[in-house]
Amino acid sequence: MARIHNLGFPRIGARRELKFALESYWKGQSSREELTATAAALRQRHWAQQAGLDLVPVGDFSFYDQVLDMSFTLGNLPERVRDFRGDELDNYFRVARGRSAQSAEEHTQCCGGVAAGEMTKWFDTNYHYIVPEFTQDTAFTLNASRLIEQLREAKAQNVAAKPVIIGPLTYLALGKEKDDSDRFDLLARLLPVYLELLNALAAEGVEWVQVDEPILVTELPSGLDAAFEQAYHALAAVPVKLLLATYFGRLQENLSLVTRLPVAGVHLDAVNAADEVAALAAQLPQDSVLSLGVINGRNIWKTDLNATLQWLTPLATARGERLWVAPSCSLLHVPVDLASEQTLDTEIASWLAFALQKLDELRILGAALNQGRNSGARELADNQAAIDSRRQSPRVTNPAVQAAVATITSSLGQRRSPYAERAARQSALLKLPLFPTTTIGSFPQTADIRQARRQFKSGELDQASYTQAMQAEIAHCVREQEALRLDVLVHGEPERNDMVEYFGEQLDGYAFSQFGWVQSYGSRCVKPPILFGDISRPQPMTVAWSTYAQSLTDKPMKGMLTGPVTILNWSFVRDDQPRSASCLQLALAIRQEVQDLEKAGVRIIQIDEAALREGLPLRRAQWQTYLDWAVESFRISANGVADETQIHTHMCYSEFNDIIESIAAMDADVITIETSRSDMELLDAFKHFEYPNEIGPGVYDIHSPNIPTQEYMVKLMQLAAERVPAQRLWVNPDCGLKTRQWAEVRPALANMVAAARALRATL
Ligand code: GLN
Ligand code: ZN
Repeated sequence: MARIHNLGFPRIGARRELKFALESYWKGQSSREELTATAAALRQRHWAQQAGLDLVPVGDFSFYDQVLDMSFTLGNLPERVRDFRGDELDNYFRVARGRSAQSAEEHTQCCGGVAAGEMTKWFDTNYHYIVPEFTQDTAFTLNASRLIEQLREAKAQNVAAKPVIIGPLTYLALGKEKDDSDRFDLLARLLPVYLELLNALAAEGVEWVQVDEPILVTELPSGLDAAFEQAYHALAAVPVKLLLATYFGRLQENLSLVTRLPVAGVHLDAVNAADEVAALAAQLPQDSVLSLGVINGRNIWKTDLNATLQWLTPLATARGERLWVAPSCSLLHVPVDLASEQTLDTEIASWLAFALQKLDELRILGAALNQGRNSGARELADNQAAIDSRRQSPRVTNPAVQAAVATITSSLGQRRSPYAERAARQSALLKLPLFPTTTIGSFPQTADIRQARRQFKSGELDQASYTQAMQAEIAHCVREQEALRLDVLVHGEPERNDMVEYFGEQLDGYAFSQFGWVQSYGSRCVKPPILFGDISRPQPMTVAWSTYAQSLTDKPMKGMLTGPVTILNWSFVRDDQPRSASCLQLALAIRQEVQDLEKAGVRIIQIDEAALREGLPLRRAQWQTYLDWAVESFRISANGVADETQIHTHMCYSEFNDIIESIAAMDADVITIETSRSDMELLDAFKHFEYPNEIGPGVYDIHSPNIPTQEYMVKLMQLAAERVPAQRLWVNPDCGLKTRQWAEVRPALANMVAAARALRATL
């Protein structure tokens, strides 16, 4: 009898209950008891929704982040919060979010101020975790209370509990040393605490523990395979069975290591590593459990259950109860319940499965494997019908788009002249001063703006009144920028709720959910649009706003678009064609928009690629392939314009060292990047590469309410000029200003413009 289980369930709640409970608690509007009661109710509900599974994850719930939970379980708190005397949960939130973060260093003594832990992306997902901090003195002490309490809760509910923890090597690998020690040296100190933890779980009557080691799908630092052997031999002494869980990718060179580890079972992501199933099944000892993640935990499409059963059945016959079936990874990365959706097109909805529907798929698979295909015959037939409908739907395939993609040649991505010639023509036309000033696109999104957008969406505001309201905002924004004497203006993006959703809503081939929220970090969620079909642009998307804005000023107005790679990376994408194919389609649609903007007289067009870096594959060996098609897609979108049209791109991060060649290959006339917090050291990559085009290194940290002074920004630009010739520098903030207040933005930009003038005077 094959068994079915789950690796993790979304904790935010189908209606984002946890988000609202957390935010209300943080604002002091509800008590700790109310918050913990909401959390307990969510756990209870989610366990009930997993009924029928042979094993259900416990410990996957988190108030903020599962990595931070593990740091608390292991007693690895940053030095700066260790002697906090208040409640443990409050201390946990102090590490997660920081307290009075601006001047945390000075305030540690007086008012409990403390810097937040660093946050970074969880593998190649859009989930962000709090980075564990290590020093050579790091000591670990077990605090199993969270897990034990949740286990007892689960037991009271008769849940077939399988605690989930992050494994020791992944835990160390995900962290950072705060001194020059080597964090992997801490393994010997860490293992006894893991032993103690596993023993404590065993004492609660647990049979299986899921130990997550997703680091095994990446290229391991040298020596780590030996560390894996050392660690798991040590842990083999505990009286519980360990399921070593890997996910998000293929094991490749780590596959044989995995089969050598003395664990009772191994989980493989059979969606991303389908071609490794046979090898793992052959090499894993016969008495080990093979758990296969056959349902995609990272995407929202229905699983082809009949096809899955086809290849799974022989394995089930051979392995019996030593074959487990599961989603590929934790369901944390998909929305909770498709049944919540009221407005999704019914045909498209019939192709989708969110977390609860994925668990249904799992139950159907389990029943069919164990009781034969007649059990669940109806469900299997329904599933087949949905799969066929998607495959054959004319809404997915658009012959005109396919034909356009088929005619793409490399010349499409080619500007007419090299940068130097373009730059001369652009400068003759635009007549910008040295150190030209600009902003990244959005201006404060006030309550009025959001209300107008909401009312338009709900039909309370008609098209004409909405247009009028937005035009008034644009006019206001233009007046402000003129008063500030910025050189290149923007329209301010009041009409955009989100830089991807705005475009997705206007492109054919996209669908939108109402409740398809996925946790990004802490209480923050994103609602990725669903890219289901060939992409086309029925009509211009931004031209009317941009030309209206341009009509109000003699200064150049920047057109503002989101690039194809970013749109792709922030969407749920098709699984019936490669990402690169979808990206090219997006590129063609954005290219049309760029050309329409140019025709309408817009001389400067910015194409944001905020998420280009995010799309990097987990393994370095695959980076170049990705970068090649990503850069080509950007070039196709951008380069269909005359030499005189200036193309900008923007990226809101600052690690360029390892991808600088590809950044240069994008060949944007101007790139604006985030740099203000790093003293411009990040421009070293551009300096060493002798990056040839213009750069706007951010001098205003828009994440902070602080108002940077003129002197501070002059200083930063001088540091920049040591790395990039002054003639090629722009002066701008790190990113868009939509989360800031006008009261902050006005003085900050006034200082920025004054800084640019002061710099000009020195040349
Ligand atoms: N143009 C966008 C804005 O200013 C860019 C946002 C981003 O890079 N994340 O809001
Ligand atoms: Zn940005």
